[in-house]
Amino acid sequence: MNQESIFPKRFKFKTIQAKWIKFWKDHDIYAFDSNNKKKLFTIDTPPPFVSGTLHMGHILNHSWIDFVARYHKLKGDNVYFPQGFDCHGLPVELAVSKNYGISKENRENFLEKCIEWVNDNITSMTNQLNELGYSTDWNYTYKTIDDDYKFKVQLSLLDFFEKGLLYREKFPTHFCVNCETSVAKAEVGYQEELGKLWYIRLPLVGREKEYITIATTRPEYMEACVAVLVNPNDQRYLDLSAAEVKIPFTDRTVRIYMDKNVDMNFGTGIVYVCTYGDEMDIKWKLEYDLDEIQIFTENGLMNQNSNYQGLTILEARDQIVKDLENEGLIEKIEDYEHSIIIHSERSSCRQPIEYLPIYQWFINVKDYTKEIIKSAESMNWYPEKHKERLIDWANGLDWNWVISRQRVFGTPIPFWYCKQCGTIISPKKEDLPVDPVNITPPVDICPKCDSKNIIGEKDVCDCWIDSSITPLVISKWQEDEEFYIKSYLNAEVHRPQGYEIIRTWMFYTLFRCKMLTGKAPFSEAMINGMVAGPDGRHMSKSYGNIVSPDEVMPEFGTDAIRQWAALGSLGDDYPFDFTWINLQSKQPISNEVIKIEQKKLSKEKFDKKYDRRFEQLIGTSRFITKMWNAYRFLFLNLKNIKIADLNIEFIKLTPVDSYYYSEFNKILEIITDCYNRYNWHDGFINSRIFFWNEICDNYIEAIKYRFYSEEHRVRENAIKIALNLFYKLLICFGFIMPFITEEIYSVLFKRFMKIDSIHLESWPSPFTRFSEISAKNGGMLIEIIKLLRNIKSKLQIPLNQEISEIIITTPKKENLKVLNNLREDIKNTIRINNLKIIEISKLNENDLLPTLEEDVDFLNGKIYFFK
Ligand SMILES: [Zn+2]
Ligand SMILES: [Zn+2]
Repeated sequence: MNQESIFPKRFKFKTIQAKWIKFWKDHDIYAFDSNNKKKLFTIDTPPPFVSGTLHMGHILNHSWIDFVARYHKLKGDNVYFPQGFDCHGLPVELAVSKNYGISKENRENFLEKCIEWVNDNITSMTNQLNELGYSTDWNYTYKTIDDDYKFKVQLSLLDFFEKGLLYREKFPTHFCVNCETSVAKAEVGYQEELGKLWYIRLPLVGREKEYITIATTRPEYMEACVAVLVNPNDQRYLDLSAAEVKIPFTDRTVRIYMDKNVDMNFGTGIVYVCTYGDEMDIKWKLEYDLDEIQIFTENGLMNQNSNYQGLTILEARDQIVKDLENEGLIEKIEDYEHSIIIHSERSSCRQPIEYLPIYQWFINVKDYTKEIIKSAESMNWYPEKHKERLIDWANGLDWNWVISRQRVFGTPIPFWYCKQCGTIISPKKEDLPVDPVNITPPVDICPKCDSKNIIGEKDVCDCWIDSSITPLVISKWQEDEEFYIKSYLNAEVHRPQGYEIIRTWMFYTLFRCKMLTGKAPFSEAMINGMVAGPDGRHMSKSYGNIVSPDEVMPEFGTDAIRQWAALGSLGDDYPFDFTWINLQSKQPISNEVIKIEQKKLSKEKFDKKYDRRFEQLIGTSRFITKMWNAYRFLFLNLKNIKIADLNIEFIKLTPVDSYYYSEFNKILEIITDCYNRYNWHDGFINSRIFFWNEICDNYIEAIKYRFYSEEHRVRENAIKIALNLFYKLLICFGFIMPFITEEIYSVLFKRFMKIDSIHLESWPSPFTRFSEISAKNGGMLIEIIKLLRNIKSKLQIPLNQEISEIIITTPKKENLKVLNNLREDIKNTIRINNLKIIEISKLNENDLLPTLEEDVDFLNGKIYFFK
């Protein structure tokens, strides 16, 4: 027994957090026990991209994931909770080029630096996750750059190739000339733009001075025009069938086709087909078997097929418009609002996407969307509504998955191909992982055409190829059969993730894991929203609404932040609020004023004048203080009341104890139901309100006098009963606020318990040892006490000041006994010198000089209150 523990006045989270992070690590509190035979609850955590620092979205996401892990452990599940890191990708390459000044042409050196950068970032992100109280077992961590990770990725591609799902083809794919790589459809988005619509005249061949007019937003594609289309129902153009037009600045002519997919209402109703201006161009090119003219290169410059060789696409646009104007071929130019397709995902690029026909590697996913939908239907979604997102995406998918990226820092695509005939040559399984650029191919000559021109693929995999097999990587697929069966095939697998990556990470994982193993990977998914700024928009530098965890964690501590996370609503966007205030006047300042001031003042001056106030965190911090004070109060009393254990088996509960035990049971049922559905918000709110309003404000007030009783037994029983209730409550808060609860446990409860950490506890069971009648009477008592306290406060009498007399009357004789049993509690809690409890008919009229009279509704009686 350690009675020397100290419970300081304030919860000093900085030192306390550091202490417990170390303790948990040193004592393996979160260690995964791989020998435990019980069915596994596997959590397929999202591997954060190694940007170097966590943002508020990660804080929300990973707090929730940690809630899941801790809550399931509390409930007795055998939880397997590994955490990985997603390392490959364009942002790393960009950061390395920028920070080290190394070009990707210098391949070996460049890759070395990428790995160095990634490892540095993983170290700092691991520390941040520890600061967040993250309870993963770091012994099971994976990185997508590890050889055994790459092995599994490449093995899965080999499997897909053997199944005929993987192929190489020249095809116009979404291409970002800014990033110089192709991107998947899931990585592009739309952006509204105020552009122009150019009306361009194209001379008709063989008809002197006659021309047609097309309207386009992309005049720079003129030289790639391969056909012109009109709608056969368009009465204006019936004479154009099979006519030809001349393409300006070239010696080419193209044919006019009649096509009922042409929108007669757009522009002039005549469209030109270019290779490739948009997705329709791709369809028409295939349908009419048109030529393909590629006019720019992968780095976004016009090529030898253009008169504007060397110019950027936008420069070429300006120039061709000028040239057309000089030739009198521009009829008019209109302002035009339209949405353009941009590079929107996993990159801050946001530049327009082009369609570039190059050789790419594809996975056939189009033919398996029904299978993916079936997997999605077979699992539980929290909340249910996000399942629709996946199903809609799957139903609308009309492209196969381009998996090759023209970059260097990624998992190599493990194949060779014959330059002559395109035959694909795959590696031997035992040689994996391979980088086909660096090793000699398994064959010298092409098995099909005998060519010696065998090329190692230098493109690398899309990052989603890495991350969409995470359930297989953590379950040691193709590595440890027994563990794979236990943690994947026979486990309940939980997928937590944001809704913004449903069409990528979720979609691809459902697809690949099912194809590779025959089993849908997940039994359930918990979906979180994105963190918004106070203006309701997603946090973004350009909106100026970003808050970094580094700005708030040191000021408020982890438990306050995790409470903020718990209050987010399942599946919806969640704001992180703040208000700008003037430091001198303490008044809030509008965003408009702040924007102006930011431009006007130097950063130093601005920081001296303004600061942000984080109302949500101020609120959650208050609860921490409230909690700390309540437990501290018990601690201080425990110093004077020596008890040997918390056993209450033979203690008779008072009505007030019974009432709160019974109320706790009700709350426990409610919050358990919420948490079982990952409804952190409702669960936490309910328990917080109960603790704050009922336990701190009423329960403690009603039992406190017993702590000072002259009878040792009364004191001892009172504090034991209270500690039992407070212990269960502490466990209920533990998985949301791991630090303060561990600290309280260590100073107040550890001496009675046999475990090292509150985080090894089980979810509380309801109290059983109280009578319903006693609980009901306790409820009555609390109502009377509340009422009397309200009167006291209305009359502005300090709560601890003694009242000379109170008469409680009741119309029913049988209530007298009940009320008399509660007499001591009422008298001592309210501090009443003379408390009379009488039948209303026995009330002497001469006694009636009430200062205040109130109804006590449950007994139809009255209270007379004498100051
Ligand atoms: Zn880009
Ligand atoms: Zn060949």
